[in-house]
Amino acid sequence: MDVSRSKRELARARRSIPGGVNSPVRAYGSVGGVPRFIESAKGARIRDIDGNEYLDYVGSWGPMILGHAHPKVLRAVREAMKSGTSFGAPTVRETDLAEAIRRALPSVQKLRMVSSGTEATMSALRLARGVTGRSRILKFDGCYHGHSDGLLVGAGSGVATLGIPGSPGVPKAMTDLTIVAPYNDLAATRDAFERWGEDIAAIIVEPVAGNMGCVPPRPGFLAGLRKLCDEFGALLVFDEVMTGFRVAHGGAQRLYKVKPDLTTLGKVVGGGLPAAAYGGRRDLMARIAPEGDVYQAGTLSGNPLAVAAGLTTLELLEAPGVYETLASRSKALAEGLAGIAAELGVPLTTRHVGGMFGFFFHPGPVDDFAQAQQSDAAAFRRFFAAMLEEGVYLAPSAYEAGFVSLAHKPRDIDRTLEAARRALARVARMR
Ligand SMILES: *Cc1c(COP(=O)(O)O)cnc(C)c1O
Repeated sequence: MDVSRSKRELARARRSIPGGVNSPVRAYGSVGGVPRFIESAKGARIRDIDGNEYLDYVGSWGPMILGHAHPKVLRAVREAMKSGTSFGAPTVRETDLAEAIRRALPSVQKLRMVSSGTEATMSALRLARGVTGRSRILKFDGCYHGHSDGLLVGAGSGVATLGIPGSPGVPKAMTDLTIVAPYNDLAATRDAFERWGEDIAAIIVEPVAGNMGCVPPRPGFLAGLRKLCDEFGALLVFDEVMTGFRVAHGGAQRLYKVKPDLTTLGKVVGGGLPAAAYGGRRDLMARIAPEGDVYQAGTLSGNPLAVAAGLTTLELLEAPGVYETLASRSKALAEGLAGIAAELGVPLTTRHVGGMFGFFFHPGPVDDFAQAQQSDAAAFRRFFAAMLEEGVYLAPSAYEAGFVSLAHKPRDIDRTLEAARRALARVARMR
């Protein structure tokens, strides 16, 4: 496969941009090879500047649930653009988008729009601290909630611990306020509450973890978090930046029937443009400025182009059968992969929830980050490279979920599985 132009562009980009990429997940650091510079994308396919075409399971890391360059989304953005690109003043369609979100997520009675998932989680936690008057938050090892200081933490050992800075530049004083527990571990979470509960403002959790591969909650985990929060007077924040409008219309909270106090949204709600939101109980959201005293603001929040793309996307997702289609595609993919791996004797654990899926080169079970980290990194690298050669574009990291879109047709899944059979055979030969 010729990637000479991507290679040249990477060298040029590196002189101006750290690593040549504007977000570290785009680099091929953990898999080797050349990150593809993208020229265009349409439906389920993405094309690089050397003219290679791939079936895309990254979907811009989640937003492109309708497929790339959906004609109705493009038209909505073009129409919006004719009237100007930003006013810094309220527009009618922001309310339309807020209402579309509320229709899907009954726990969200009121919401505020922001421009990124990072902003949404950061702001939701500020609100949680503001209303509870408490300072600590509890998160789970392997969950990603954006790159704000207090959330960029690593875990200590297997039990609940105070977070350790996940990056130079994050002061220990910031992460001291973040408690980290193993995902799916209610006992460790209870221990943390017994120790620090009086000062825990909120639990923040990915209700289906999607940033350590795809790790669904164990039965009872989310309901258990709800109970702990109620018992100790803390708020439950579901970070549905990835899962909202991805695993079901109404997100993971609808699927698992657990009601959070606050929810953060992003990715799909922007329809491929920068938009995100946080919202929840009316009484809590009433504390946000200017209605209340908890400050949060944004120059480009509710940007008209992003709102047009997001609103059109959410409206199209209201059609009946959409999530059944997405779920059947990711199921066919995940179960197909698992079947082929079993035939070839490659230990592979696959998961799928709605329109997201994941696979680990690990015999399983994988219920938390420590287990995910035991998967075979060399096998993943070889599989990733083989799939790319086959024209299948997967996330260049073993710790990312994959995404299907409505543009992925059954024959695309079949083609992917044929490619996977050859790629897994290479993995099997290496073992
Ligand atoms: C992507 C993601 C974020 C961060 O969103 P950005 O828009 O990249 O800032 C936060 N939480 C979760 C669960 C995510 O998947």
